[in-house]
Amino acid sequence: MARILANDGIHPSGKLKLEAAGHTVQTDHIPMDSISDHLNEWDAIIVRSATKVRKEHFDLAPNLKMVVRAGVGMDNIDVEYGRTLGVHVTNTPEASSRSVAELAMAHLLSLSRGLHQSHLHMPTSGAVDFKKLKKAYSSGFELEGKTIGIIGFGRIGQELARICLAMGMNVLAYDLMKQPRNIAIPTEAEGNPVIQIPIFEMDQLLAESDIISVHVPSVGKALLGADEIAQMKPGVVLINTARGGVIDESALLSALASGHVRAAGLDVYDNEPTPSQAILSHPDISLTPHIGASTAEAQEKIALLAADKIIAHFS
Ligand code: NAD
Repeated sequence: MARILANDGIHPSGKLKLEAAGHTVQTDHIPMDSISDHLNEWDAIIVRSATKVRKEHFDLAPNLKMVVRAGVGMDNIDVEYGRTLGVHVTNTPEASSRSVAELAMAHLLSLSRGLHQSHLHMPTSGAVDFKKLKKAYSSGFELEGKTIGIIGFGRIGQELARICLAMGMNVLAYDLMKQPRNIAIPTEAEGNPVIQIPIFEMDQLLAESDIISVHVPSVGKALLGADEIAQMKPGVVLINTARGGVIDESALLSALASGHVRAAGLDVYDNEPTPSQAILSHPDISLTPHIGASTAEAQEKIALLAADKIIAHFS
């Protein structure tokens, strides 16, 4: 049976599942400055983003057989190096898709009625300037009938499409993988209607979407810069819950200043954890601090999936 270190914690359901399968799990955190001395005591380590597993750690831990990133990004692990040593390195991206998609929709709903701004002003001046605030926040828009362009039509992009279709929105998708995707719409009625979403060309998506939400991995350079934004409809709303830098922040600020982009919702930023103040203080940006996967449900699904992967690996 495997000895497992969950160094950045794990939802209790995942720990229970591993223990029920006969494994031992330690959740006491070992700080980075002493982890090298202890890593070889474990068969598997589960990490989130805080614990780093670098080449030197792999070298010092010949007993280590598995590293699981409970979450998506594996920038904190020298994945290829570990794999060349025969360590099974994996993550749990499928567990948080719904949470990230719902956060993208939360930003969109917030921006559609200016909730992010009105909530700032109501506590301080709602009692004295009610009518003024009512006027200031009376230019919202409905989502029904609007067209959302989803760039990156993988797990999260498709989950967002399900939500948007159920709300009566039109979906245009763009992805490097060109085959159409079937999206099942959950309904109370028997059977879930399936809608086939084709993959469009990027130019068409940019030109026809009222809202654009990005769900691609980081590619090292902006996918949406000044040129792409110039092709979008005036008044477009942009959402980025993917990775900082997928939308060029300078181009976004210029387009907000000119009004070409009406508003933006961001969960991810250049230079996390110190995003630019111009972004943080912009009145037309709805902001969250990279919490896409941070729901109780996603954390439990992540832990259970990590447990399943470990149990399968050691059985
Ligand atoms: P996925 O792999 O299921 O889907 C990504 C899709 O993007 C794939 O279909 C791929 O073909 C497509 N793609 C890749 N490069 C592209 C490009 N240049 N142009 C167009 N399409 C491209 O991934 P996912 O689970 O849907 O995650 C999407 C993004 O969400 C990732 O960047 C991930 O890091 C991010 N994410 C953020 C949070 C958060 O906390 N905000 C949480 C989880 C995931």
